[in-house]
Amino acid sequence: MKIRTMMNYMIFVILLFGAVHADATEIATPKNIILFIGDGMGVSQITAAKIVKGNLNIDRFKVVGLLTTHSHNDLVTDSAAAGTALATGYKTYNGAISVSQDKKPLKTIVEYAEDRQKATGIVVSCSVTDATPATFVAHVDSRKKYSLIAEHITKSGIDVLLGGGLCYFLPKSTDGSKRDDEKDLIAELEKRMKVIRSEKDFQDLGDVDSVAGFFATKHPARANERKPSLSELTRKAIDILSKNKSGFFLMVEGSQIDLAGHKNNQDDIISEMIDFDDAVGAGLDFAEKNQQTIVIVTADHETGGFAIHNGYIKDKKITESAFTCKNHTAVMVPIFAHGPGSSAFAGIGDNTVVGKALIQYLQESM
Ligand code: MG
Ligand code: ZN
Repeated sequence: MKIRTMMNYMIFVILLFGAVHADATEIATPKNIILFIGDGMGVSQITAAKIVKGNLNIDRFKVVGLLTTHSHNDLVTDSAAAGTALATGYKTYNGAISVSQDKKPLKTIVEYAEDRQKATGIVVSCSVTDATPATFVAHVDSRKKYSLIAEHITKSGIDVLLGGGLCYFLPKSTDGSKRDDEKDLIAELEKRMKVIRSEKDFQDLGDVDSVAGFFATKHPARANERKPSLSELTRKAIDILSKNKSGFFLMVEGSQIDLAGHKNNQDDIISEMIDFDDAVGAGLDFAEKNQQTIVIVTADHETGGFAIHNGYIKDKKITESAFTCKNHTAVMVPIFAHGPGSSAFAGIGDNTVVGKALIQYLQESM
């Protein structure tokens, strides 16, 4: 009897370790990473888009979680501290662009991806020097140093850069420049990549391996008037980056969901959310075919303390809603994941989980 118990125990142990081993092999390391950040996108913002549009691409995710967003010393984060957490896996102070509490550079996902010879890209609907995109490529002690951030972006290894913010790349004496020196960063970028400045340039863009596209002097227009759309930019970025045999990292930001939240403008929140969700669809379409790509959708924080009080699903209409503030809030934000390695994002976690897990995947990736 005793021997029998012992045998059973041993079989159990073998089965247990076998199962753990099988699990470990199932969690394959993704070759490609696409990270979507809805700036200021809380659960209410997604709900509003869902009431108006019906099915969302975000509905296609099976792995869902929640993230706490506080910065190192503030319950309510800004986009710089939250972006740093997502891009590096570390908490820092509000306003910091991928530097630590003591202002030392924190290595970003983009820099880890470059170590692995992966192609890298950033696609945003704001100025590329804004806090969220900046945290992936720059190391600056204040998010307001746009000219310096533009220099860091120019010196980075980024292969695809699409958004606004041309004014920070032009020398001071050029019309429309917001620089305070004569540095010509466009000329610098042109040494290593194609630079385009209009929607027409974008539509005419042939087969390239790298591109910087500026579609506005500062911030691009609102979603309804913005061309190219975030989904068009995302598709093009994926086309270019996926040519790299070692894989790629792409960050796509729905930047103006936040601006609409600050203005307490529900209609703009919905149109920005739908534009963002279309871009998410482009990422998922690629990942579903490619099978080696993890797609993540999350937010840096919620904006506006937005709540939906009444409406009609049938009429696709919200009839009563409210905002509790004009700033960011401390509520947890949702995270959605699809593809290899996505189970790491289920449940409740902290926003540093995103940077930590993605950097780990890059380090494991060959
Ligand atoms: Mg942002
Ligand atoms: Zn904001």
